[in-house]
Amino acid sequence: MIIEQAEVIVTSPDRNFVTLKLTTDDGLTGLGDATLNGRELAVVSYLKEHVVPLLLGRDAHRIEDTWQFLYRSAYWRRGPVTMAAVAAVDTALWDIKGKAAGMPVYQLLGGASRTGLLAYGHASGKTTEELFDSIRSYQEQGYRAIRVQTGVPGLKSIYGIASNATFEANTGVRYDYEPAQRGDLPKEEDWDTRSYLRHVPTVFEAVRNEFGPEVPLLHDAHHRLTPVQAAKLGKSLEPYDLFWLEDVTPAENQEALRLVRQHTTTPLAIGEIFNTVWDYQFIIREQLIDYVRSAVTHTGGISHLKKILDYAAQYQIKSGMHGPTDISPVGMAAQMHLSLAVHNFGILEYMKHGQKTDQVFAQSFTWENGMLHPGDKPGLGVELDTDEAGRYPYVRAYLPFNRLADGTVHDW
Ligand SMILES: [Mg+2]
Repeated sequence: MIIEQAEVIVTSPDRNFVTLKLTTDDGLTGLGDATLNGRELAVVSYLKEHVVPLLLGRDAHRIEDTWQFLYRSAYWRRGPVTMAAVAAVDTALWDIKGKAAGMPVYQLLGGASRTGLLAYGHASGKTTEELFDSIRSYQEQGYRAIRVQTGVPGLKSIYGIASNATFEANTGVRYDYEPAQRGDLPKEEDWDTRSYLRHVPTVFEAVRNEFGPEVPLLHDAHHRLTPVQAAKLGKSLEPYDLFWLEDVTPAENQEALRLVRQHTTTPLAIGEIFNTVWDYQFIIREQLIDYVRSAVTHTGGISHLKKILDYAAQYQIKSGMHGPTDISPVGMAAQMHLSLAVHNFGILEYMKHGQKTDQVFAQSFTWENGMLHPGDKPGLGVELDTDEAGRYPYVRAYLPFNRLADGTVHDW
């Protein structure tokens, strides 16, 4: 089973996606997601210029050997661009192996450890009334767990808030959360940590009063706090029993979590911008977190994320994979298969893709009673319609950035 063809397909139906498609000499195809939100073409170049020539003629069955070869032979290891490229190859090879075996990928990973995957959606609102409407609409769509993001008095636009009324008016589709905006420059947002820290506990108090104690609630601080501010937020949210508090401090300083952990029992999730097990080395061993946020797409694929999760399992730390729309349907399928198989699954982030995206990528997962299941088609269960993909060329898009009131650039 020799890799005969490797194509890098860029398409922008509702947003940009990068997909690697491998074809073997016996005609099997495999897909891997290589989408790196806001830096998509860097991965395209890395794949086309440096990885594709290494794949042609290789044995498609040798997933682990190919992973180690791509990781170690480059010498320049890790980083989001490299690891997204390695992830795409790894995922595509799992897809091919599943098709060759006639089994869904989760069967090759040890079989199902559960019947379905609890998923959370993104409720948001500038005001409490808008937020309540948003939570209700997610509950009507079947979501059992809800991430809550809210506007902060005095700030114009902040992370995670549905605010694009123009988009909604033009398309009739609710604009929930798509931070990467098409255009030649990133959008500027504003930020004030003290206002945020004062406001957020009042929002969670209101949500608990309205929706009761049962619903799992999550919140993302998006790397904006210092360790002591994060500790204060975690403490102030304890009465509202969060499922998790995410990315409280900039993720590159993992030692910050020691201080946060000393002061709060609110569960912590981190790692959506991590790339390898090395980023988790001591925060797992010292049990400084409760959930691993890495996505298959950004962390070297199914093979490497499984190793991280197996390591985390020894410390009762669970998965909570990053899954907004910048993870393509291929990447989402890959993490559904992995989530179904590992023992220490926690929760999966799930945002529905747009209609155009669903036409480009034919998918076979199911969504019933707030639970996802990857389906039982051989491989990942996703096929890419290349003609449909060709209708949507790449459009430049950037994630926004933040400035404080005095003009200082802040973490976004
Ligand atoms: Mg996040």
